[in-house]
Amino acid sequence: MARYIGSVCKLCRRENTKLFLKSERCYTDKCAIVRRSFPPGQHGQARIKQSEYSLQLREKQKIRRLYGVLERQFRGYFERAARMKGITGDNLLQLLERRLDNVVQRMGFAGSKKEARQLVRHGHLLVNGRKVNIPSFILKAGDVVELREKSRSIAHIQQTISAVEKRGFPSWLEIDKGQFRGKVLSLPARDESTLPTVKEQLVVELYSK
Ligand code: SF4
Repeated sequence: MARYIGSVCKLCRRENTKLFLKSERCYTDKCAIVRRSFPPGQHGQARIKQSEYSLQLREKQKIRRLYGVLERQFRGYFERAARMKGITGDNLLQLLERRLDNVVQRMGFAGSKKEARQLVRHGHLLVNGRKVNIPSFILKAGDVVELREKSRSIAHIQQTISAVEKRGFPSWLEIDKGQFRGKVLSLPARDESTLPTVKEQLVVELYSK
């Protein structure tokens, strides 16, 4: 499967916002956005007037990069969101938020999406008692995600859960830290969806042209 292997901090700098793609480093002043808060490249500091299209494009790229989804798959989420009842933008964010790799990160089993995806791919996670190794697996309310017993002794996971717990778990998830288990209590509401501010309406406008 194709995947991005370049510098993730460059992605944050390009979108001029923290996308939290690097675990604990994102919360320190070593973060590239804190050190160099301008886009990468030769013309990074040049003043560029943004067109309506470029604003829409940047917002789409920001959301896509935030969840680590490639263009084709992202487009697929948009089409699925448009077919669902309700507001397309809200549905899109909700679908992305319900991905297994995202939930694993939100539960604190992994510090970043990349780590979460690796945990899932390597078969460390169970959903409702069954092994699931598909990072894009969409969870629903009532699903229980847990770390396999063999994987619970990994020290890094224990440290990450404690760090995420200090920042607070989302209210739509219930975490049992001792059992390395979490339950999806309800589908995430719009305001619980993403860490940085996103304007999903711009994505809807872009794809509706
Ligand atoms: Fe890098 Fe994280 Fe800062 Fe983004 S938020 S620039 S990934 S350290």
